[in-house]
Amino acid sequence: MLSGDLKYLVVGAGLWGGVLAERIASVLERPVLVIEKRAHTGGNCHSALEPDTGIECHAYGTHVFHTSIPRVWEYVNRFTQFTSYRHKVLTEHRGRVYPMPIGLAAVNMFHGLNLRPREMAGFLRREAAAHAPGTDGGEPANLEEKAVSLIGRPLYEAFIKGYTQKQWGKDPKELPADIITRLPVRSDYNTDYFNDPWQGMPLRGYAAMFDELFRHPLIETRTGLAWADIAGSVPPSCAVLYSGPLDELFGYALGALEWRGLRFERDILPWPDAQGTAVLNQADVEIPWTRSHEFKHLHPERGRQGDKTVVAREYPRACQRGDEPYYPVNTTPNQALQGEYQARLAAEMPNVTAGGRLGGYRYLDMDKTIDDALAVFEKLRARENRGRAA
Ligand SMILES: Cc1cc2nc3c(=O)[nH]c(=O)nc-3n(C[C@H](O)[C@H](O)[C@H](O)COP(=O)(O)OP(=O)(O)OC[C@H]3O[C@@H](n4cnc5c(N)ncnc54)[C@H](O)[C@@H]3O)c2cc1C
Repeated sequence: MLSGDLKYLVVGAGLWGGVLAERIASVLERPVLVIEKRAHTGGNCHSALEPDTGIECHAYGTHVFHTSIPRVWEYVNRFTQFTSYRHKVLTEHRGRVYPMPIGLAAVNMFHGLNLRPREMAGFLRREAAAHAPGTDGGEPANLEEKAVSLIGRPLYEAFIKGYTQKQWGKDPKELPADIITRLPVRSDYNTDYFNDPWQGMPLRGYAAMFDELFRHPLIETRTGLAWADIAGSVPPSCAVLYSGPLDELFGYALGALEWRGLRFERDILPWPDAQGTAVLNQADVEIPWTRSHEFKHLHPERGRQGDKTVVAREYPRACQRGDEPYYPVNTTPNQALQGEYQARLAAEMPNVTAGGRLGGYRYLDMDKTIDDALAVFEKLRARENRGRAA
């Protein structure tokens, strides 16, 4: 099924695989085959127009591009123009709506205060001292204690506790403290969700951006084809850039890496606007979803976009083998297992580089994914140059 001359194979047509395929074709001027088990390219960034309304919907949850890395911003702008959209997130708690992340607006609204920026740090310190368990100076024993030691119990219980419990399916008291090192708290009225200087949405959508990324004539993309379908016929001299799950590569021989899953429930609603913003968090544990996404708000430059709207509610859930994995569960045993798989990869499959969010078993924003793929490409290029010089 595969040509014996094949030199580069990319597994997974998401962002990591797409950047590597593009670089191999454009810079090394080598043919590259990309296989993708889904019916579409773009991985979890995929978006498509909902047929009834024409509204662009993100299949795997809202994806907003943001970065502070100059080489990533320069690179990604070769494939799309970006809009000037800046992401804002609101959170609903006990029937009131607050801006996120926690900042002056949320704290003043929640506590009925009028704190000034210079008063914020002292206020949070006093809140933490008043409510933190173990004020004897001991280390926080779990996520709850850690969060309370940073922002105090009332803010923790309003905005962190229920959301975290839903997100991870566990009481925050059962989660390790080191899941959070800090909580982003702003001491001003800036309600932008991201701090990065470069932010926006692809002007013509993610599908068009990925079409450009895969456009090079030396790239052949085959969708509906999984690694397992062709693994036995890959020539030994072929370099494989693998962005599928790391444990799947070894048939889960050492056990399965743990992931958190998501389920999206999408509705078409007969109103032009349902929630007035793109992403609305639900902080309370009684509401079973964590976020609702109203996609038309990601593109205000497209205007009203008709009399209907599309909203998708996001429900976290356990992730069984075969389910779509979303968030790695970053516990010490999982990290150790990931290390064991990496060691086996280096020892047993020297022609395979595993990366991206699944192959690297890590949460990566889109910009970090691109940056990582560019770094992997630099190593490939050095190896190719050595080969050409020999
Ligand atoms: C809910 C959610 C929201 C997010 N929102 C943002 C955001 O707003 N901004 C941001 O910067 N980042 C966001 N991200 C992160 C973003 O999704 C990742 O940075 C990006 O998807 C990583 O790209 P990737 O190529 O590593 O993985 P993926 O996009 O998952 O691509 C991997 C591809 O490999 C394919 N594949 C897997 N196994 C096989 C196999 N065995 N054979 C063949 N193909 C295979 C998969 O089908 C998939 O298409 C979000 C992530 C999540 C989970």
